[in-house]
Amino acid sequence: MLVIMLGPPGSGKGTQASRLASDKDLEHLSTGDILRNAVKEGTDLGLEAKRYMEAGDLVPDDLILGIIKERVQDDGKSFLFDGFPRTIPQAEGLDNMLNEIGSGVDLVLDLEVSDNEVINRLSGRFFCPQCQATYNYPNNLPKKEGICDKCGAGLEKRKDDTEEVVKNRLKVYKDQTQPLQDYYRKKSILKAVNGERPIETIFSDLAGIVDSTK
Ligand code: AMP
Repeated sequence: MLVIMLGPPGSGKGTQASRLASDKDLEHLSTGDILRNAVKEGTDLGLEAKRYMEAGDLVPDDLILGIIKERVQDDGKSFLFDGFPRTIPQAEGLDNMLNEIGSGVDLVLDLEVSDNEVINRLSGRFFCPQCQATYNYPNNLPKKEGICDKCGAGLEKRKDDTEEVVKNRLKVYKDQTQPLQDYYRKKSILKAVNGERPIETIFSDLAGIVDSTK
């Protein structure tokens, strides 16, 4: 099964995707996490991606499609894509790759969150550099301030969560990623979910949709 998680930055797609993937036995593939690791490790990919990420712009499609191709072809298993595709050319590239191996996208979950909510959430967002868990002040606090509940590492703020970069990321989302809603709506595989409700309620909706698509 192949599921895509769509939604603006700060919609909670990372949190929901990692839970959904382990619950439904899908491999969670976050292009944002892959790129952040590449930057941290200083690989060629990381060096190329860094300047786009810090400005809140998208990394070029060919780099992203290269990352995805390696994984999809290597494994041939079930995936939950989080943060990919983000442009129409990426979606078309994915369709071509999947066609070649006789597969296709089964479901696109679209987490809907308003612009104001996105700005509020991202300005209070922290992440764990070790295990990638995310936290939000004031709604999703770690038990001990500044410390990750899962692995005990010190929490940090993402470089691209400053107000100016967040505004650019939202603009980029609207211009380049939102057209994917129509792309997948036309294929009748898009399901919208209200992302401004408690995490548990959203999760149970998402899980129900995945179950009824299997
Ligand atoms: P995310 O953690 O998904 O918000 O991604 C963080 C940043 O990584 C984005 O603002 C982009 O610069 C880059 N990025 C992640 N996924 C993609 C993608 N599919 N296409 C282009 N850039 C991406």
